[in-house]
Amino acid sequence: MENKKPILISSPILPDLDEFVESLKVIWERKWLTNNGEFHQEFEKKLAAYLGVEYVSLFSNGTLALISALQALRITGEVITTPYSFVATTHALYWNSIKPVFVDIDPVYGNIDPLKIEAAITPKTTAIMPVHVYGNPADVEKIDEIAETYGLKVIYDAAHAFDVKKNGNSILNFGDLSILSFHATKTFNTIEGGAIICQDAKTKKRIDYLKNFGFSDEVTVVAPGINAKMNEVQSAYGLLQLKSYEKQTEERQEIARTYCELLEDVKGIRCLHDIDGIKHNYAYFPIFVDAQKYPLTRDELYQKLKEHGIHGRRYFYPLISEFPTYRGLPSSNPDNLKIASKMTNQVICLPIYPDLKLNTIRAIARIITDLSV
Ligand SMILES: *Cc1c(COP(=O)(O)O)cnc(C)c1O
Repeated sequence: MENKKPILISSPILPDLDEFVESLKVIWERKWLTNNGEFHQEFEKKLAAYLGVEYVSLFSNGTLALISALQALRITGEVITTPYSFVATTHALYWNSIKPVFVDIDPVYGNIDPLKIEAAITPKTTAIMPVHVYGNPADVEKIDEIAETYGLKVIYDAAHAFDVKKNGNSILNFGDLSILSFHATKTFNTIEGGAIICQDAKTKKRIDYLKNFGFSDEVTVVAPGINAKMNEVQSAYGLLQLKSYEKQTEERQEIARTYCELLEDVKGIRCLHDIDGIKHNYAYFPIFVDAQKYPLTRDELYQKLKEHGIHGRRYFYPLISEFPTYRGLPSSNPDNLKIASKMTNQVICLPIYPDLKLNTIRAIARIITDLSV
């Protein structure tokens, strides 16, 4: 497949252009571009109904949603979180002057290990910030139980978990708040965008003040808010995106199933399997390379794939705890993060997106299989 257009890990889905132009005409007519416009209000309502949640507050991106979520609950001191995520998870703590406390992850799905949370709690701990890594739910029952016992808040970074359900209930209904990202690389995109999901009207009101400088009315500023509003163009775009999402999930499911079948018997390559009772979104297709059993290391396989025009991504490598800003923290010690340190050196996320051709999937699997012998 040399010399062809490279195959990237994801390829964004865009709404129907003619329909989008119709929406733009409405915006041009209304001349209302941002600040809780009609498309914004409609998108919040439709999105809440679609996801099966009570309250959605739209944001200009997921990172500002994370930062604002911590502000909304007045989180301070220390927050227990995972090093196995995208840097924005921990950066949001840093921007709030909160000290991240990393705990290790489970060896199968890479989510925060609830059994290690209690040992990391100190008098300064105010919240837990887990991530639903690759869209596979963290152990929400155990985490919420620990939070209740110790009087902590729970904010889920659900950037990967758009429309993931557990026994028919949205995963976004667990904890105090959940954060979504609608960045171009996510399964559901508004180019850039994000949201906070909350459980009551009072909290939504506070979140809505915070994303608009803290204004509660024309002359009252109730908090040092930020500007993180989603505009009308993106809201109209997002509304159109909802129409085709379910079909896209089915297409990604088919790709994941095909990869699993083709790679099942390759020694030293581990794939993730569906979990009982979970409606998955197949946002990512991570494989884990065990260099003891597979002839190549993860980085060698990653390079080989690249030479064939297949651009996987090493999500998540390095660990957040390894970046200069965070590596000096006591909890960043690799002895505290043994499983995360292992997974970060094994993972490659393979391309997965609705337009990905069956032939390409087969070719990718063949490269991995051929190199295994
Ligand atoms: C994408 C992502 C974010 C950041 O979202 P943006 O919308 O890009 O700001 C945060 N956390 C995780 C886990 C992500 O994957």
